[in-house]
Amino acid sequence: MATRVIPPRILRKLRYNTATKPLNSTHPFPLSPTLSSPTILDQKPPSSTILRPAVDPSALNFHDVEKLFSYVPTSKLLRSTTVLYATGVESMVDLGMWIMRSKFMEVEGARDIILATIRGSFYDHFCAGEDAISASKSIGSLNDAGIRGMLVYGVEDAHDNDGCDRNLKGFLHTIDVSKSLPPSSVSFEIVKITAICPMKLLERMSDLLRWEQQDPSFILPWKQESFPIFSESSPLYHTRKRPEPLTSEEENDLELANKRLFELCQKCVQANIPLLVDAEHTEVQPAIDYFTYSSAIMHNKVENPIVFGTMQTYLKDAKERLLLVTNAADKMGIPMGFKLVRGAYMSMERRVASSLGYASPIHDTIHDTHKCFNDCSTFMLEKIANGPGGVVLATHNIESGKLAAAKAHELGIGKVNHKLEFAQLYGMSEALSFGLSNAGFQVSKYMPFGPIETVMPYLLRRAEENRGMLAASGFDRQLMRQELGRRLKTAIF
Ligand SMILES: Cc1cc2nc3c(=O)[nH]c(=O)nc-3n(C[C@H](O)[C@H](O)[C@H](O)COP(=O)(O)OP(=O)(O)OC[C@H]3O[C@@H](n4cnc5c(N)ncnc54)[C@H](O)[C@@H]3O)c2cc1C
Repeated sequence: MATRVIPPRILRKLRYNTATKPLNSTHPFPLSPTLSSPTILDQKPPSSTILRPAVDPSALNFHDVEKLFSYVPTSKLLRSTTVLYATGVESMVDLGMWIMRSKFMEVEGARDIILATIRGSFYDHFCAGEDAISASKSIGSLNDAGIRGMLVYGVEDAHDNDGCDRNLKGFLHTIDVSKSLPPSSVSFEIVKITAICPMKLLERMSDLLRWEQQDPSFILPWKQESFPIFSESSPLYHTRKRPEPLTSEEENDLELANKRLFELCQKCVQANIPLLVDAEHTEVQPAIDYFTYSSAIMHNKVENPIVFGTMQTYLKDAKERLLLVTNAADKMGIPMGFKLVRGAYMSMERRVASSLGYASPIHDTIHDTHKCFNDCSTFMLEKIANGPGGVVLATHNIESGKLAAAKAHELGIGKVNHKLEFAQLYGMSEALSFGLSNAGFQVSKYMPFGPIETVMPYLLRRAEENRGMLAASGFDRQLMRQELGRRLKTAIF
């Protein structure tokens, strides 16, 4: 694709920038020679020249595009710019979704052409590879740039135990692959509880937990020790009437789900890689929080928190719940870790609440969401500066990134104590990722992987829910274009 944009003669002259990039000596690793054979466009500076500075948020500058993208090969920069321009146009996203769901996908020849086109563009941009092994090569390239990976086994929700067992194998295999990589190149394992516990059961458990919240005399015999799942203002409207207790078959399914999660946690303990539980929509989130907190109580040790939950700060009750959970964890002496996100199910939440005749659980304005994210970040940063636990700030928002970097610096939190991680989706917000990494913070990319046929529906669902986010990649596009222009000029003159 690149050769169509710039004549080959000029492309050959484009040299990869070799400015020295600082790096911590204990993590990012030279890419194993067996894992890659870079072309001239993929050439990178030798890892031995890399050093990482102490955290310095004033170094979080986006003006020096040469430094910002010094680890991105020109071919990749070209592809990224093109893909981000395409996904920034809503009608292109609509067209992509329409094609993927159209009858063309059932016609063999057409399907091959469509998949080949997607593979060389969107898939390669947003996905780490077809399997865990190829994804680990993508992690190697990121490590060279001082960034770590979170391997995300891209699966859809499971509806029965067979599906859950299949997904569990995938998650366990991912941990094996992470373990085989140089230490610290993977920051977290990711799990979707909806992939290891049948959706129907998560809905039933959430109903029962909501009813227990309204009527504390309502006993749940299967419930293990947990932290608070709701606050006073949490939405309980999904459950309109007293739910029936779990049947013996459902209790059996719950036992199997507990065992699956226990196996995952144990494997993470052995691999010494924490497990990050993703958050979903509020209909099933109470059950997901219950699994997360009961597992954290079992596995998190002061010196080594293993299970991290996710808090969606677009929810009006997020701040209250964060406070309740961290207070309860402190009282029990359990270190708790959270990934903070804004949240990815906004339109669905609003639709469901309105269909049931209730106010939306999402903040009324985007400004309130930004404030909630930033307040929760500050709260968690202050907490980890003075005690155990950890926080993953998962955002593409430049202002939130800057605010958190300044706060972390003020509190003296940096790379040293490994309690703070910034994270962005693979293929998104490269400027923020590289900027934070250049300033000395730990940064990870959330990297979905899997066969194109499995991962594309998963990505399309995310793209559909996150149109605003795709359209908002303008800042990245602008900086990438500047850097491409700069490299082109250098190559010509
Ligand atoms: C590493 C990583 C892991 C993630 N894991 C999860 C997960 O487990 N669960 C999950 O739900 N999401 C997850 N997300 C997605 C995340 O929740 C957001 O959808 C996405 O990152 C956009 O938020 P942002 O912080 O990047 O902020 P921005 O780029 O500033 O995006 C803000 C977006 O928030 C939306 N928004 C929120 N509240 C409002 C409001 N009140 N009014 C109008 N618009 C509003 C808008 O669509 C807007 O586009 C993850 C994201 C990352 C980077």
